Amino acid sequence: MNNKIKYFQSIHFKIALVLALILLVTLEIVGAVFVSQLETKNVDSYKKQVQLPTYVNTTLINELSKTNISKANVGISSLLSDIDNKNSTEVEVVDAKNTVRGTNESGNQSQVGQKNVKTNIKNTLINRQSYSGIISDSSNSSRYYTVITPLIKSSNNELVGVVYVRANLDSVYKEINQITLIYVAAALVAILAGLLISIVISRAITKPIDEMKQQTLQIAKGDYSGQVHVYGRDELGQLANAVNNLSVKVEESQESTESERQRLDSVLTNMTDGVIATDRRGKVIIMNDEAANSLEISESEAIDKSILDVLDIGEEYTLREIIENPDETIIDRSDHSHDLILHAHFSLIQRESGFVSGLVCVLHDVTEQQKIDNDRKQFVSNVSHELRTPLTSVHSYIEALQDGAWKDNTIAPKFLKVTQDETDRMIRMINDLLTLSRMDSNTQKINKELVNIKELFNYILDRFDMIIKSDDDSKKPMKDYKIIRKFTKIDLWVEIDTDRFTQVIDNLMNNAIKYSPDGGTITCSLYETHNNVILSVKDQGLGIPRSSIPHIFDRFYRVDKARSRAQGGTGLGLAISKEVIQALGGRIWVESTENKGSTFYIALPYEPIEEDLWDEN
Ligand code: ADP
Repeated sequence: MNNKIKYFQSIHFKIALVLALILLVTLEIVGAVFVSQLETKNVDSYKKQVQLPTYVNTTLINELSKTNISKANVGISSLLSDIDNKNSTEVEVVDAKNTVRGTNESGNQSQVGQKNVKTNIKNTLINRQSYSGIISDSSNSSRYYTVITPLIKSSNNELVGVVYVRANLDSVYKEINQITLIYVAAALVAILAGLLISIVISRAITKPIDEMKQQTLQIAKGDYSGQVHVYGRDELGQLANAVNNLSVKVEESQESTESERQRLDSVLTNMTDGVIATDRRGKVIIMNDEAANSLEISESEAIDKSILDVLDIGEEYTLREIIENPDETIIDRSDHSHDLILHAHFSLIQRESGFVSGLVCVLHDVTEQQKIDNDRKQFVSNVSHELRTPLTSVHSYIEALQDGAWKDNTIAPKFLKVTQDETDRMIRMINDLLTLSRMDSNTQKINKELVNIKELFNYILDRFDMIIKSDDDSKKPMKDYKIIRKFTKIDLWVEIDTDRFTQVIDNLMNNAIKYSPDGGTITCSLYETHNNVILSVKDQGLGIPRSSIPHIFDRFYRVDKARSRAQGGTGLGLAISKEVIQALGGRIWVESTENKGSTFYIALPYEPIEEDLWDEN
């Protein structure tokens, strides 16, 4: 924007011009009236001066009435020569026959006795009307006041001639012109002086205005430090005071707007929910970091885009639908790499008048919630399913027994054994579920104590060795196996809950045996890294398909349901193991190749105990 005002457009110039014009017009009008009055007055007084005395007319009538023309002419001539000719007046006498009878101009004496050629005189002779007027003479560009008076005998009303008087007005006009000239010169001086004064006056008016303009420009730039100088208590002084007050008010409101904006900014930035605000047409105007992160779009990219495109809901909704019925919706932004389910809540930004000036959309990440919801539903369905299968089989065996099988000595014990096995499995499952539920609700107590993990691991594995070596066939497992221990030499003291930890290792060992063919080798190792103790149980069994590995620790997940059930599994062992290890602050994971075997790893936090500490004790 070009703020520079050209001088000719400035108020300063306009005021000066107006004052000068007013002065000019006033002087012009005064001058015009003055000059015309002067002219009328001068010409009138001059006219009076050139008026012939009445006795002249009477004498002329007498002379013209005489029959002796030459005698009369002498009389006329002497009369005319007597006339005071200080105004260089030309007087001519013409008789009724249009013959010049006398003139006071010495150079024109030859015209006496000649016919008159002046049209005005002829007219007066004809119409007997006197004539007076100013006539310009083109030959010498002079103006003359001409009076033609008919000479009428009063006794018989006979026109005996006319007297023609012509006076040169040059001297009168010269005088008027001189006065006019003086007046114009004085007017010019007055205009110049007036112009100077008006420039000074208008400067006095525009200077404070200029200062106020500068100050308002400074305010617009955000600099509120300046103050307009207050010159007086007039309107401009009041305006200057108002500008100064305005500057303070603008600064205050700017500060409050700024702090309001900062507050809004920090609220938006620190919100855990995404917020998107749009204008009336649904174009994004504000987007906080959380929204930008969840939608994987930068704020600058999103600004000015339609909210429908940004949320990718253009196919399901139109802007009109959202504005007319702002509601909530679930937006699934999951892709192959990650799950993301957002709950979008729309509301309108409305003015007091009801005019909708925009939309606000609050995005809440409900991925976890939805997952928990789905897991819960899945869990309930799994539990019902898992319990229904053994119950159905128990029910049918009891029915068979009722139907008479109890009488059969060979079948009845078998049937009873199956019902007992199934019931045992159900009890195991319920116990597992209770354990999990207690862990979920944090009511399962974890009694941590510092344990020599090598000793504990050895003790558990000794039990498995004992089972296989047992002479008691009933205790002997159906499968043969061999345990190899690869243990670090040093003792490792770790804080764990012995019972829970034993349960985990039992579960891993049982699985290694269950899911391995007869005669497999189970390699158990124990070693420490800088701040972890790593235990592993490796078998040469079925292995786990790659696609199942991420789900192996899920509740009720089994690679082969029928096989697991046949082995008496509940599908909850690894889920419990995971919960226990996590509660101990550790990690459990699996590496496996299908048909080659699996290795389950457990990492527990470990702080090496300084030797000297032991010494001191
Ligand atoms: P289950 O009671 O069925 O054994 P787990 O939670 O202990 O339940 O194990 C879940 C599933 O993981 C098992 O059904 C099995 O398919 C698989 N699995 C566990 N351990 C092994 C292993 N060592 N080798 C192969 N598959 C295994």
